Amino acid sequence: MRTVALVLAAGRGERLGHALPKGLVPLAGRPLLLYALAALEAVDEVDRLIPVVPADAFDRFAQALAAARGLRKLAPAVVGGRERQDSVRAGLAALPADAELVAVHDAARPCVRPEAVRRVIEAARATGAAILAAPVRDTIKRVVAGRVVETPPRAECWAAQTPQVFRVEILREALAKADAGGLIGTDDAQLVEALGVAVSVVPGDADNLKITSPEDLVWAEILLSKGAKRPRSEPQASGGGPPQGPERNP
Ligand code: C5P
Repeated sequence: MRTVALVLAAGRGERLGHALPKGLVPLAGRPLLLYALAALEAVDEVDRLIPVVPADAFDRFAQALAAARGLRKLAPAVVGGRERQDSVRAGLAALPADAELVAVHDAARPCVRPEAVRRVIEAARATGAAILAAPVRDTIKRVVAGRVVETPPRAECWAAQTPQVFRVEILREALAKADAGGLIGTDDAQLVEALGVAVSVVPGDADNLKITSPEDLVWAEILLSKGAKRPRSEPQASGGGPPQGPERNP
């Protein structure tokens, strides 16, 4: 079954407070986006990688991607949109006709392990829709206007991660329904849930963190420096950089 990964990097990343778009912010000397691409490249089940990048920085992303080595599956970048789901829609429009599964991944998650990607793809093959998620450690409160309105049972609360993997026609239909109903989701599974399709949960790694604030970059650098070797697919840009943990090295 042909699987294409959309790697979303078209967000503004304002909370990072960096002059560069988030996908180009250096992590151990390399643009952030290249880490997610390298992790997905290392997964045999992924056939193609499509980066989705901001319109106003398209040329800078194109340059960074052209300089990356070891990404055999890389397709030309496409321009994303205002909301996350606009970017997903743009990526879906660029899928090859024979794509059967689409794995949507945040470029902002550089520490994802190839093994976790394999597991979630396998689950989506079986069920049509699967996401990585990690059980939450904190008790979650639903808060409206500064007041707690609900405390969902902690044992039932999971933090959604990416990749989120779907049969292509399911995600297309979910986006169309969301558009028609004015639903703007914070992840892709939310749109698929709204379609009434069951989404399987595959336990992910707690360290598949999303880079949001400057201290997350420090954490990611530490996580990526655990271990001895870089993934063999990681682009070898000039300059140093931490080695990658063997558990991320297929
Ligand atoms: O801000 P948010 O958590 O939605 O971002 C998750 C990922 O989605 C980031 O990698 C970001 O670049 C991407 N995104 C996008 N297009 C948008 C908004 C977010 O590609 N319009």
